[in-house]
Amino acid sequence: MTDRLFSDHYLQGLDDAEREVIARVRTLCREKLGPQAATVASEDVFAWDTFRTLANEGVVATAFPREYGGTDARQVVRIRIIEDLGRVCSTAASMITGTDLSARAVVAGASEALKQQLLPPLCRGEIQTAFALTEPGAGSDVRRLASVARREGDHYVLSGHKKFITRASTADWFIVVARLTGNDFGKGGHFIALLVPKGARGLSVSAEVPKLGWFGVPISSLSFQNVSVPVTHRLGKEGDGFALAQDALLRARIGHAAMALGRAIGAVEIAATYACDRNTFGKALGEHQGVQWMLADMVTQIEASRALLCATAQKYDRGDADTAIFASMAKLHATDLCMKVVTDALQLTGGRGYLKDFPLERFFRDAKLNQIGEGASEVHKTVIGRDVARRAATAQRNPCLRDGSLTDY
Ligand SMILES: Cc1cc2nc3c(=O)[nH]c(=O)nc-3n(C[C@H](O)[C@H](O)[C@H](O)COP(=O)(O)OP(=O)(O)OC[C@H]3O[C@@H](n4cnc5c(N)ncnc54)[C@H](O)[C@@H]3O)c2cc1C
Repeated sequence: MTDRLFSDHYLQGLDDAEREVIARVRTLCREKLGPQAATVASEDVFAWDTFRTLANEGVVATAFPREYGGTDARQVVRIRIIEDLGRVCSTAASMITGTDLSARAVVAGASEALKQQLLPPLCRGEIQTAFALTEPGAGSDVRRLASVARREGDHYVLSGHKKFITRASTADWFIVVARLTGNDFGKGGHFIALLVPKGARGLSVSAEVPKLGWFGVPISSLSFQNVSVPVTHRLGKEGDGFALAQDALLRARIGHAAMALGRAIGAVEIAATYACDRNTFGKALGEHQGVQWMLADMVTQIEASRALLCATAQKYDRGDADTAIFASMAKLHATDLCMKVVTDALQLTGGRGYLKDFPLERFFRDAKLNQIGEGASEVHKTVIGRDVARRAATAQRNPCLRDGSLTDY
């Protein structure tokens, strides 16, 4: 087996069992997921075979605690798994990041009885959950949620609309974030997360909505009209809804960054191979300095972004307080970089890259969503910038500066 184009030094920090999981994923990518990726992504219907393969191979279970049948992999391992999947098949990678997004609130907030009921079959891929946060009037500005839940004795009455919900057509359960009626709008804990089964009276799921990429994981809209939800199906406490959503989004953001880097790695591998094979103006494309500089920029930026993501995953595993800011930086950098790398890789492969039967056409369409989902790039920039401005007010000064106000100079 020849070496890969991209460094594997991150694997050195993992133990034997963790390296074994990654080796299994790589075999799966080489023998099945990679060769099948174009077929899987040829129509936007749920890719059951890919999902069941990931479940049977124990990849889905990496997201869940051991006491419920999971393997509770560290994030430093999961980013390697998702990167490898993203290198060949965005559908497979998104099924793993989507597992975090859609099931994390059950792990973090469900009662013991619900965990016993749902987590083992979720680990085995026998059932699915969907995460329903986004609404027609609340996407980036998620605090504008208009879905409401009103408590009536031992149940809540839930009404509202959700859109862009991944797996809505295949989910057995929905995690729905709504506003508790009777509470003020604004900061604080006025949101609630409820677990609603498919088929609940008053719940309707729209037809699947056509989209640009990420085929194999369709989206639909949801409508709740006075749906009765038992209090026992609340996740966390009243007021925990927003925190549970942020907890799920944090893991999914780290996954989005890993998926984007995997796709960027795949794109460079494909473009570099083309540059070796293709001759222009009397020499291989890759011998032209302009092409080498393009490849150099791509590889250097990807390795820098992998280092940032690895630091973020380590922070997550340690429970560092600034993990969320690092996750914003890692997602912003990796997903914007992926879009640029895939665009440049397609440029390098000329007309061949533009054809449907060449993987870069699919990579190009898939790259866009990573910049939008789980917080658009601009939203992460705002979060990061706000944090810098806040901390600068009290941070240790640069020793080159005098004491006192800088405006006195
Ligand atoms: C394929 C797909 C799958 C999805 N799956 C799910 C799911 O499973 N569950 C779920 O709840 N949601 C899901 N979403 C929703 C997704 O999280 C939202 O689309 C995303 O958060 C952006 O919200 P929005 O589309 O309403 O964009 P808007 O809020 O309308 O923002 C539009 C654009 O404006 C810019 N922008 C926004 N705010 C600012 C700002 N403050 N400063 C500068 N620029 C800004 C950004 O570029 C942004 O892309 C999915 C979306 C898609 C497309």
